[in-house]
Amino acid sequence: MEHDADILIAGGGLNGPALALALAQGGLRVIVVDARPAPARAEAGFDGRAYALALASKRLLTMIGLWDSLADKVQPMRQIKASDGHAGQGASPLFLHFDSAEIEEGPMGFMLEDRHLYRAFLQAMQTTPGITLISGETVVAQQPAPTGVSVTLASGRVLTAGLLVGCDGRGSGVAARAGIRRQGWGYDQTALVTAVWHEKDHEGTAQQFFMPSGPLAILPLPGGHHSSIVWSESTAAATAIQALDDAAYLAALRPRFGDFLGQIKLAGIRFTYPLSLSLAERFVAPRVALVGDAAHGVHPIAGQGLNLGLRDVGALAEVLIEAMRRGEDLGAIDVLERYQRWRRFDATALALGMDTVNRLFSNDNPLLRLGRDLGMGLVSSLPGLRRGFMRQAAGLSGDLPKLLRGQPI
Ligand SMILES: Cc1cc2nc3c(=O)[nH]c(=O)nc-3n(C[C@H](O)[C@H](O)[C@H](O)COP(=O)(O)OP(=O)(O)OC[C@H]3O[C@@H](n4cnc5c(N)ncnc54)[C@H](O)[C@@H]3O)c2cc1C
Repeated sequence: MEHDADILIAGGGLNGPALALALAQGGLRVIVVDARPAPARAEAGFDGRAYALALASKRLLTMIGLWDSLADKVQPMRQIKASDGHAGQGASPLFLHFDSAEIEEGPMGFMLEDRHLYRAFLQAMQTTPGITLISGETVVAQQPAPTGVSVTLASGRVLTAGLLVGCDGRGSGVAARAGIRRQGWGYDQTALVTAVWHEKDHEGTAQQFFMPSGPLAILPLPGGHHSSIVWSESTAAATAIQALDDAAYLAALRPRFGDFLGQIKLAGIRFTYPLSLSLAERFVAPRVALVGDAAHGVHPIAGQGLNLGLRDVGALAEVLIEAMRRGEDLGAIDVLERYQRWRRFDATALALGMDTVNRLFSNDNPLLRLGRDLGMGLVSSLPGLRRGFMRQAAGLSGDLPKLLRGQPI
């Protein structure tokens, strides 16, 4: 039976386009269906939404041909500082300080705005042979069969492929329809997300203050005087802060932010995201695979969500392209299980690790505070341990797919 595509990807957020490009460049025919109309997202102005991309993710974006067009829009993260803090009291004297100069691979990561990343993905999808993008359309049903999977869109159109990949985010309908259950919990925390202008140059330093109510991340954007803010609070406090006018919002942020960057002003749209952990019990089912947040939605405490998703992208693309070269059926469960074996443990371990860090730090217990301050002091004083953490932050540890090592598949 001739299918409409080798692979149908439900979801064209960020991981969907990355996977489509990697697969099409490997010689596969791909259809991407995205519920959001592409033009609306591509035309977004500066809104402060940005990602911390690990060095390994940069390598994948380079291998799929995106980095050249992004290189002048990223801010290298040269240093990362993390400290225990209390609003109004400043950072604790014991803090973690990671300096990229200590590892030979270069900056541990790069800050990149959502609008630039999405635009680059859209342009590449539109110009890469083998990719068909259907945007403003929703996948509503799927029917796996021995020879392929048929997928129904809200418009009634039916498409067939050898494999359906769910890149449809935390509430993945592809996973639910495949009978894949999810485990997870809320944190009763909500992230307030915005951008600020500041008087002094951030010099490429990312800051993370661990407050009892949740972490505050201050992430450097290009130009030196803008930073993206991810400020976690209890949901009740975040709701109250989000309801404030800009002046009162800034007044609430200022004591948490401190004065190390001089005067600050709000510079982005103000968003909120409820924080939760959501892990799919399996990453594959007959003729179905899950990638990115559809497989694992993690706490943004270390900015690892998209980086984890891009590891899935690299692993699934490698498994499928090698299976194609061997003439295997791409939707066969033994092929898909290679992907699951590769990614499920790593993603689950990281998700639970982020969960533990959040619980340990979003807490005002004096004993826990002393323990984590001493822990941070210890890591700071041991260069070997510190370099290990830096390689982890750069996404260089573990069994990396080829694209994340900077090698072609
Ligand atoms: C506050 C915050 C800060 C973050 N910061 C970082 C960071 O610094 N670094 C980092 O690595 N990660 C970060 N993340 C995580 C990152 O945003 C996510 O991991 C990433 O966006 C997930 O991408 P995705 O493509 O898997 O899913 P999504 O971006 O959720 O995309 C899913 C897509 O699927 C589409 N869709 C849904 N249902 C259907 C359907 N039925 N049919 C068709 N299409 C459908 C949607 O329209 C959407 O376009 C952060 C997250 C939050 C909340």
